[in-house]
Amino acid sequence: MTPPTGKVILVGAGPGDPELITVRGRKAMASADVVVYDYLASPLLLKYAPGPAEKIYVGKKGPGHARSQRAINQLLVDKARQGLTVVRLKGGDPYLFGRGAEEAVFLAEHEIPFEVEPGVPAAGGAAATAGVPLTDRRYASSVAFVTGHEDPTKTGPSVDWEHLAKAAGTIVLYMAVKNLPSITEKLLRHGRSPDTPAAIVEWATTPRQRIVRGQLGDLAALAREQDVRPPAIVIFGDVNRLGEALNWFEKRPLFGRQIIVTRTATQADSLAAPLRDLGADVIEMPLIEIRPLDDTTALDDAIKRITSYDWLVFTSVNGVESFSQRLTAAGGDARRLAGVRLAVIGPATAKALADRGIRADFLPETYLSDALADGLNELEDLKGKRFLLARSDLAGAVLPKRLRDAGAVVDDVAAYRIVPCEFDRQALAELVTEGQLAAVTFTSPSAVRSLAARLGRDFIREHSGDIPAASLGPVTSAALRELGLEPLLEADEYTIPGLVAKLRECLAR
Ligand code: SAH
Repeated sequence: MTPPTGKVILVGAGPGDPELITVRGRKAMASADVVVYDYLASPLLLKYAPGPAEKIYVGKKGPGHARSQRAINQLLVDKARQGLTVVRLKGGDPYLFGRGAEEAVFLAEHEIPFEVEPGVPAAGGAAATAGVPLTDRRYASSVAFVTGHEDPTKTGPSVDWEHLAKAAGTIVLYMAVKNLPSITEKLLRHGRSPDTPAAIVEWATTPRQRIVRGQLGDLAALAREQDVRPPAIVIFGDVNRLGEALNWFEKRPLFGRQIIVTRTATQADSLAAPLRDLGADVIEMPLIEIRPLDDTTALDDAIKRITSYDWLVFTSVNGVESFSQRLTAAGGDARRLAGVRLAVIGPATAKALADRGIRADFLPETYLSDALADGLNELEDLKGKRFLLARSDLAGAVLPKRLRDAGAVVDDVAAYRIVPCEFDRQALAELVTEGQLAAVTFTSPSAVRSLAARLGRDFIREHSGDIPAASLGPVTSAALRELGLEPLLEADEYTIPGLVAKLRECLAR
């Protein structure tokens, strides 16, 4: 029996920044069995698709062999006929210079159900982030979108440069880098003034964005001098007069700064997102991952006798999560903790408890293990008090030792495991040797150790000058120093927001 036909959703990925996809586009991604994507649809968008979804790159640049348009069309039909929901992710808007219409027509001809989700076109993105509005009452009341790269073999309409030069207030050129000299020559020949302000926007809306500003008369020469490369949008017209004044995007404090985030994939976002909002070029490269315990007996036993403890201590969000999971698995909920007091190491851990309707009884002033122990010791006499610590399998010895020194009885139980994870060693080594990194962030000593294990201590020692380590706090800094890496900076407050604030303070241009 053949399965019922699936469908194809043509989705506009937006101009570059992955957050510029539409809400509907993102919903479509979440429903995909297969994602067929292009060079200009950010690979960061793939995380919106379900993990098991098949991801097929059909771009004409980069790794793998290019597929013809015909082959792409056929691929969409074949996958849909297998009963799958296929998302065809295309840069910008699918119906603006993206051959989206050719794909849609092919689908219609083959009676494949399809939908189209519009996207922010590169022109709209470039306008916003280069500060060049496409129209403005004072400068332009019309705008033309024009391809600078016409298929020489095609028949049908072609660009009427003569009318264009005279008619459109603003002229936006797509795919024009290669032909820029002949295009500017045509516009000049047909009467557009050589001092018409102009801009080229490379990689618009992304942290790699670069703007070359000039005039119609000199733009082609400037582009050559400054080695402009695709993807780029070229904007001619008086609207460019606003460009400098409206350039908020590149004035953000961390614009273009290359920062590596090494947190676990699931937690990277809490650090990556605020850095991106400050303009940073964030590369997520998790060095560790959190895994459940192989053997949960000790934790389960401790949970069984939880009310025999005076204090339950969490030193990470992961601890709270893993503990709750086992509590739920045992058929329990927060009411089991009645009578047990809770201590946490910092505000994120307190929040993880609060999210479960539980208020932490103690939070130290400084977010460190020894401060936690000292604070509890000041709070009350710990002699004979029973403590359960639910931490990682790699947690340090300081906290249990300090508590025991104060007379407490401590059960130090692993609630989860931290394991080094696979990362692209080659890619990281290249980033380091390129020498462009503004910071490599470390938020735990285990991430530092994972780096050492995979990159090699010799490599690290040799390139220590090109690994600007940004550390969450003294424990992580100590692990870095042990490797021979003197941290470039250490957060004043040992939290993720604290680290972001310090990065901003030290790296702002
Ligand atoms: N459908 C897309 C256009 C695809 S054609 C849209 O709606 O925008 C590819 C061209 O788009 C590139 O050659 C370049 O001119 C432009 N482009 C796409 N992404 C861009 C970006 N981030 N910055 C500048 N130009 C971009």
